[in-house]
Amino acid sequence: MQVTHVGLNHLDVWVRRGVPGHDFHLPRIPGSDVAGTVDGQRVVLHPSWGCGTCAACLGGRQNHCRSFRIRGESSDGGACQEVVVPSWQLLPVPDRMSSAEAASMPLALLTAWHMLMARAGLKRGERVLVQAGASGVGVMAIQIALLAGCEVHATASSPEKRRALEALGARAWAYDDLRVREADVVVESVGQDTWAASVRALRWGGRLVTCGATSGGEVPLNLRVLFFKQISLLGSTMGTSSDMLDAWRAVTEGALRPVVFAEGRLSRLGEAHTLLERREVVGKVVCAQDLADA
Ligand SMILES: [Zn+2]
Repeated sequence: MQVTHVGLNHLDVWVRRGVPGHDFHLPRIPGSDVAGTVDGQRVVLHPSWGCGTCAACLGGRQNHCRSFRIRGESSDGGACQEVVVPSWQLLPVPDRMSSAEAASMPLALLTAWHMLMARAGLKRGERVLVQAGASGVGVMAIQIALLAGCEVHATASSPEKRRALEALGARAWAYDDLRVREADVVVESVGQDTWAASVRALRWGGRLVTCGATSGGEVPLNLRVLFFKQISLLGSTMGTSSDMLDAWRAVTEGALRPVVFAEGRLSRLGEAHTLLERREVVGKVVCAQDLADA
């Protein structure tokens, strides 16, 4: 496959910086979200896969596989000119969508879909709070919850970000002015800085689903709140291959839209990382192919 675009995720930043206690097997080509062409057809790639032979994989739970791989993290990514991949990992890019837009979606889309549909078991009419709504996962979670017929609230740090989230259809809140209560589901990826507010926002019997800890992974947990409020704390990582196909069908039908904030160049990937780290981004940063021929 000829690579034309690579979408960035916070995962890229973690892989570059390193995570205590985690071995990324350097050197590693980064880039989890990859769009390009195969024989002239525009395609985008499944961002993750399992071994295909263990009980988890055969049961359709690839993200429980102990050999689970994420492109650009535990396997080489797409920030290069060509990649060789199994044909089942190719997803066709819809005609109405640019390749840059397609490269902005898979990892965040899969993550948000699995969190809400598989883990939280989202139901029509529920109240959902998405913390860090302007993040890649956030803008997908907002759209998925709206698609499911939910009332959607989201937090964001700046008025510009909050306007963008309102345009997606969410009610947007500043972190220090969050007045959402009785939420059925809270989508977490921030961790330390928002955890207490997330737990406070849950109704009795509510579910908190988390896929990240961008501000830190150590959080206070009051067991009396956990058992009195009868809340469920759900961990989630990536998703299954069938989640990806279901989510991509919604994209193909036009029900979920890409949110591309900026397009950079692959030869200047560092600048795109810096932009992502400044936390002013709404949605995604994508880099276009401009690496010189070898
Ligand atoms: Zn497996």
